[in-house]
Amino acid sequence: MQTKQLINGELVDGDGEALPVLDPSTAQQIASVSEASTDQVDAAVRGAEQAFETYRMTTPAERSALLLQIADVLEENAVELAELESLDVGKPWPSAHDDEMPLTIDTFRFFAGAARTMSGSAAGEYVAGHTSMIRRDPIGPVAAIAPWNYPMMMAAWKIAAPLAAGCSLVLKPSEITPLSTLRMAQLLSDVVPKGVLNVVHGRGPSIGNHLIHAPQTEVITVTGSPATGMAAMRAAADQIKHVHLELGGKSPVIVFDDADIDTVAETIRYGAFFNAGQDCAQPCRLMVHASIYDKVVAAVEDQVKQIQIGAPREEGTEMGPIVSQTQRERVEQFVDTAAQDSEIVCGGNRGGRDGFFYQPTVVANVDNNAEIACSEVFGPVVTLSRFTDEDAVIRTANAGRYGLASSVFTADVGRAMRVTSRLRYGFTWVNTHGIATPEMPWAAMKGSGTGSDMSVYALDAYTSVRHVMIAH
Ligand code: NAD
Repeated sequence: MQTKQLINGELVDGDGEALPVLDPSTAQQIASVSEASTDQVDAAVRGAEQAFETYRMTTPAERSALLLQIADVLEENAVELAELESLDVGKPWPSAHDDEMPLTIDTFRFFAGAARTMSGSAAGEYVAGHTSMIRRDPIGPVAAIAPWNYPMMMAAWKIAAPLAAGCSLVLKPSEITPLSTLRMAQLLSDVVPKGVLNVVHGRGPSIGNHLIHAPQTEVITVTGSPATGMAAMRAAADQIKHVHLELGGKSPVIVFDDADIDTVAETIRYGAFFNAGQDCAQPCRLMVHASIYDKVVAAVEDQVKQIQIGAPREEGTEMGPIVSQTQRERVEQFVDTAAQDSEIVCGGNRGGRDGFFYQPTVVANVDNNAEIACSEVFGPVVTLSRFTDEDAVIRTANAGRYGLASSVFTADVGRAMRVTSRLRYGFTWVNTHGIATPEMPWAAMKGSGTGSDMSVYALDAYTSVRHVMIAH
């Protein structure tokens, strides 16, 4: 198993403490990866700083060719990378290989095109005798921090956009799921120019913290929890840097009385329990019109009870384990608290398997102010509550700090237009939930972050708008 880090073009072992990597489906150790030392993080940052000076001068066509080459290398190694991902995170094999790898690879192909779309918006004589032009230039070396739920895909989001924009970077994957990112770093070590892409391993509060404080970087980009986003903002405040955050979510799913109940229940089954519910856009908080509430609870229960739990490679596995013991305990705490004043319709326990499994869980009759309705659980749990009034449900949905994903189920196009326009979420689906495509922004609002991953808008985080004026 590849456990070396990529620092200024060299694959090296970490000089720090050896950290265990576990298989969540057995709780057994599968690898040991040594953390970087702070000196190694500094070397990676210096490498990115030096490389930036040449990489930023590359043409969009050259950057595009690099991104296409990266996509090809990942595609050639897709089976091995998906195997590592499935093992490390406990993902069912079809999810890791058939669902996530294509989107991961396509992210690089999309940004290969996006690299060639960057343009300034004006050139003209705004002051007599002077010509002004607007440039959009790479902003500087990037410190990038990624989470454990989709390690490869999140690494792709963190790598592809800066490279398209002309920035070098140092990426730190999650300390609990580093394997696919480290292998990707090895595969790309002789594809990407020296120092342009660096990958370091280590825990957040030490190595991640050191990275986000590195003075040579100009952007801190984080996908992770709100606490890490706040740490990034504090680090940026010390030195005045740009911050790009994609943080947690708590997605309301507003189900009106004319919704197709089967579609709702099937969407919840596939959307809320994919990746064992560990998804920032998980459709986890159903708000259902009172007139169809009982039918929706029954339909969701019927679908969720059919979910087959198992190890990633077991035939028919639809949902694997939770990523870690810590994360499972967090989920349990939410559900156990909710059980005191809500109804556990199904699940609510570990299900008696080895590993970090937890049963797909449906909680009904949940008060809108309950902890489980307002805070991100990040596990295989959905809640249902009732509403009767359109205005009131929009106010409730908008009331929390999160502002990432949301959805509306209705047969009325006018209502869909009205409600989607009023929801304060970075993205809203109608009559579906969770479908992503690189052309469209994965946009964050409010406490869920700043800016977007994917789409041409992701380039905003890594570029500066500049004015050049020529006197003549
Ligand atoms: P986390 O914040 O605990 O860890 C994310 C990364 O931040 C890890 O690499 C970790 O080592 C690092 N980190 C932690 N503390 C740090 C610090 N002080 N300084 C620098 N780095 C630090 O999050 P997680 O548990 O890995 O991931 C789950 C969270 O990520 C959830 O809240 C989820 O919603 C969110 N997420 C958001 C998106 C999105 O696109 N908005 C996508 C995936 C996951």
